[in-house]
Amino acid sequence: MSEIKSKRALGFSSDESVEIHIAPNAGACFGVVRAIKLGHQATSRAKQQGGTPVFSLGPLIHNPKVVNDLAAEGMRPIESAEDAAGTVVLRSHGVRQEIEKDLRERKVRIVDATCPLVKKPQRIAQSLGEKGYFLILVGDANHPEVKGVLSYFGRPDFLVTYSPEAIAQIPEGVTKVGVVAQTTIELKVLNQVIERCRKRFKEVAVYNTICDATSIRQEEATELAALAQVMVVVGGKNSSNTNKLVKICKDRNTETHLIEELHEIDLNWFEGKKKIGVTGGASTPMEFVDQVGEYIASHLEIQL
Ligand code: SF4
Repeated sequence: MSEIKSKRALGFSSDESVEIHIAPNAGACFGVVRAIKLGHQATSRAKQQGGTPVFSLGPLIHNPKVVNDLAAEGMRPIESAEDAAGTVVLRSHGVRQEIEKDLRERKVRIVDATCPLVKKPQRIAQSLGEKGYFLILVGDANHPEVKGVLSYFGRPDFLVTYSPEAIAQIPEGVTKVGVVAQTTIELKVLNQVIERCRKRFKEVAVYNTICDATSIRQEEATELAALAQVMVVVGGKNSSNTNKLVKICKDRNTETHLIEELHEIDLNWFEGKKKIGVTGGASTPMEFVDQVGEYIASHLEIQL
């Protein structure tokens, strides 16, 4: 029988043992861990207070398993803040300022799970607005985090873009710009935007507000997938950072499977494979990623 090793590591040994390696940083980032913890605290407080309603504005995180666990405790996702009453938990990527203001005015209890790393671009945008800068927000205009940050800027002179070429659209006469990043963008794109701005504007205030949680997970997935014969990616099928990990693994021509729950694992995927990689998106609890590795290890041992 071959020895089965399951651990958080990137490199496989050269011997013939079956190895299951889990990417060292796979699983939930600190902002998501914090949001889940605040979510559980909110539901247990509501229970103690006789079952007052608890809502989240949209699913608390992009992981159906966690959302279902919280739903079992009484947390209900809603799409519109108008439907909130009792307690509402704000998601890690934050909300628009006016939504928060409206909730406060209606005396809805707010549990603010906005990630501190998202609060930072919000504060910077506010300060740039007050100082009269033109804001360049590098990111996806449709993303709730970006909409939230813009609401703190509070002025019409801004550009949201993910394309360095779009800097040419900024009206003549603008002399001082502030560059802020959505937390999950690529550093390469931010640097390209900064370079263009420095060539054109007199004053360029730069704020690198990128969080490296996503890029670290992507780099590790790249490395692990290059060595593994099969990859299992654990995370929500509706999670963009999880799907990005799947794409990265497939781009390395490695057989890759995305799962949300243990029962989705098909042991046939591992037939004849000795190097098995496991990783998980930034919204998947780390314990669950480890559980997947242990599940595969225990079942293969039975089969071998
Ligand atoms: S990816 Fe970064 S910014 Fe987003 S929630 Fe996680 S830690 Fe916070």
